[in-house]
Amino acid sequence: MNTVCVVGASLAGLLTARALRGQGYTGRLVLVGEERHRPYDRPPLSKDFLRGAIGEADLALEGEGEELDAEWRLGVAATALDAVARRVTLSDATSIRADGIVIATGASARTLRGSRGLAGVHTLRTLDDARALRRELGSGRRLVVIGGGFIGAEVAATACELGLDVTLVESGPAPLAGVLGAPMAEAIATLHERRGVRLVRGAYVTELTGAGRVDGVRLADGTHLPADVVVVGIGAIPNTSWLEGSGLELGDGVLCDEGGGTRVPGVVAVGDCAAWFDPTQGGHHRIEHWTGARQRAAVAAATLLSGGTARPEPARPAYFWSDQFDIKIQFIGHAGHADSVTVEEGDLAGHSFLAVYRQGERPVAVLGVNQVRLFTRWRRHLETAPVQAG
Ligand code: FAD
Repeated sequence: MNTVCVVGASLAGLLTARALRGQGYTGRLVLVGEERHRPYDRPPLSKDFLRGAIGEADLALEGEGEELDAEWRLGVAATALDAVARRVTLSDATSIRADGIVIATGASARTLRGSRGLAGVHTLRTLDDARALRRELGSGRRLVVIGGGFIGAEVAATACELGLDVTLVESGPAPLAGVLGAPMAEAIATLHERRGVRLVRGAYVTELTGAGRVDGVRLADGTHLPADVVVVGIGAIPNTSWLEGSGLELGDGVLCDEGGGTRVPGVVAVGDCAAWFDPTQGGHHRIEHWTGARQRAAVAAATLLSGGTARPEPARPAYFWSDQFDIKIQFIGHAGHADSVTVEEGDLAGHSFLAVYRQGERPVAVLGVNQVRLFTRWRRHLETAPVQAG
């Protein structure tokens, strides 16, 4: 293989490039990234960076002095892929012909209809988004966060710590209910309420109000919540529109086999944009978590370099963490596979507990809230004995 083009110069792209070099690839390596920034870490954008506790230099993903011997094409987007000719067309009207292509274009924040062009309305996915939002988070301002997923809940917690008057609107029963299940998510709801976040549950935002600048949000029942700043945290969409017509199979992301290989030889996909086949769940699943990108980069590199003959390790259950206030939430597995959940250590009210989700007798997921050590033991257990979908 003489040339590998990695499209997407963030976590998954950088780690795959690093793994390619680590696995002995010595040919030309080109990294194409739409953002102008060198690869940076996103998790702190809703936490320490937004709080002002760390600066931009602390976000760097590259090691000091790290030399990948790569060509960096930053500030340029890939606009099309000719998968058969393995040619990537770029937004500056140039193109790159490669023997191997790594698709690592991640995801973009979903927006709310009618929110474009209204000042004071933010999403949070990039460093530029975080810079813009940070400028608006002055103490005493009224912030409405729409959506109680990870990003929404983390921004609400951070803003509350910064002294803003925070309201979190969630369509489900509690923040994070979609991943943790309603009973455990209730503990997260209590945490937010106790620390001063106003939760509006089971509510839909139908409209953002204001002329030129946002002044509030309207709910389906007609309630108007006044706001100086609004953050829309309603999920992310995989960045795959540039691949339409390429011949790659697209669903919720680029559909891949267990090793990140696509239906086109010499093209792999990894990270938030990729939906790998997971035999333990019997389908394609997109993992939108940091550790997923990290674990799969080496596998994708091996798939590319071996021409698809490398045997991937068995899929590990998805793991994520989230920091909200002074609480570390860690989760592994799939709550949806469970028919029961029990608290095995600590108590919900104290916000320090470990809960095990079971299907019959079999653990299928574990939640740790400020229980890092015990959780780590359970995580090892679940990773070495992956669960089959029932
Ligand atoms: P991304 O990081 O999205 O990178 C994709 C890159 O590709 C981007 O730079 C994009 O500009 C570029 N790109 C897109 N389209 C093109 C194109 N056509 N051409 C060229 N380049 C393109 N995970 C956790 O597990 N725990 C957390 O606490 C956590 N916190 C998070 C907080 C925030 C605010 C965010 C946004 C994410 C968080 N995550 C967290 C998720 C984690 O950061 C992602 O899973 C990870 O960034 C995925 O990496 P990626 O490289 O696949 O995608």
